[in-house]
Amino acid sequence: MSRFMNKSYEALEAYVPGEQPQDKKYIKLNTNESPYPPSPKVIEAVSSDEVRDLNLYSDPLCKKLNSKIAALYDVEPKNVFITNGSDDSLNFAFMAFAGGDVKAYFPDISYGFYPVYAELHHIDYTEIPLKPDLSVDVDAFTKCKGFIVIANPNAPTGKNLPVSEIERIIVSNPDYVVLIDEAYVDFGGESVIPLTKKYDNLLVVQTFSKSRSLAGGRLGFAIGNKELIADLEKLKFSTNPYAINRLTLVAGEASIDSNDYYMDNAKKIMATREYVTEELEVLGFDVIPSCANFIFAKTEDISGEELYLRLKEEGILVRHFKKERIKEYLRITIGTMEEMEELIKTIKLILQEV
Ligand SMILES: *Cc1c(COP(=O)(O)O)cnc(C)c1O
Repeated sequence: MSRFMNKSYEALEAYVPGEQPQDKKYIKLNTNESPYPPSPKVIEAVSSDEVRDLNLYSDPLCKKLNSKIAALYDVEPKNVFITNGSDDSLNFAFMAFAGGDVKAYFPDISYGFYPVYAELHHIDYTEIPLKPDLSVDVDAFTKCKGFIVIANPNAPTGKNLPVSEIERIIVSNPDYVVLIDEAYVDFGGESVIPLTKKYDNLLVVQTFSKSRSLAGGRLGFAIGNKELIADLEKLKFSTNPYAINRLTLVAGEASIDSNDYYMDNAKKIMATREYVTEELEVLGFDVIPSCANFIFAKTEDISGEELYLRLKEEGILVRHFKKERIKEYLRITIGTMEEMEELIKTIKLILQEV
């Protein structure tokens, strides 16, 4: 830290994103991207005409995309907040709905960005331990009074809570916002977006990065009561109103127009996930049943860290976490069937060596 930096950031530890190596071609199963390209409509929409207009600012209200998202999820445009990646939605929500006397609560094992946002904004927070089976402890959350953040399905476990359990948490915490991060909902979860009409303290965040093959385009959104959305807009317009560039806006619009394409891809990924789960179980792995586009698996035969390193040597990247409770697991993104067959083949070879 330079001697010029604001001292209040001294303890801040930045989020460490999954590796995006540029040295050689890996089978990339480490950051939960889609293995499939954006839809043909999206590729066509990001045209040279659109590039030619880059001298002009983008629409800060994202009006067209906003109405398309609203129509798809059966809400009004004033219930939709659009951001540069869902990370920005999360960031603005932490800023808006926690801090001062309002504490934040999230599971101890979840998206690694939550504690970073809390630290960044000097928000007091408590991590609620997952239960022994690595599921979210709903009863514990019903006792928390503050800004609650839960990824559902959760990462990196892939475990999903039913809508009724989320609703119990929302009802128990009426004076504070409950944020449900649905980054993986299209792979077998059930969205609580319909509940935003019933509860003014519910904010649902989704992303185009996973099921919609647009991680590099950076697009996410939040849905909730119009007053919550107005609060978030205020912070966005006090930061970077043009945060979503023209190319990403047209890509997002075409993406909503290609909904069937993406939902078909999600189905393919779910089928591949079942294949990988069975194959790994045959090899003696303990695989947590997943509702996401990744699985969380471990084996007694080789440590999580060693298997991660051996796979990397063989050109396959997966994600390993050093946290004590989950350090024997690997989080493996579901790629194409061909990629996953290669993974299984490689794991078999590695296990034969040890
Ligand atoms: C990937 C992910 C996000 C962030 O996605 P963006 O690329 O910023 O939209 C948010 N939450 C969870 C749980 C994720 O896994």
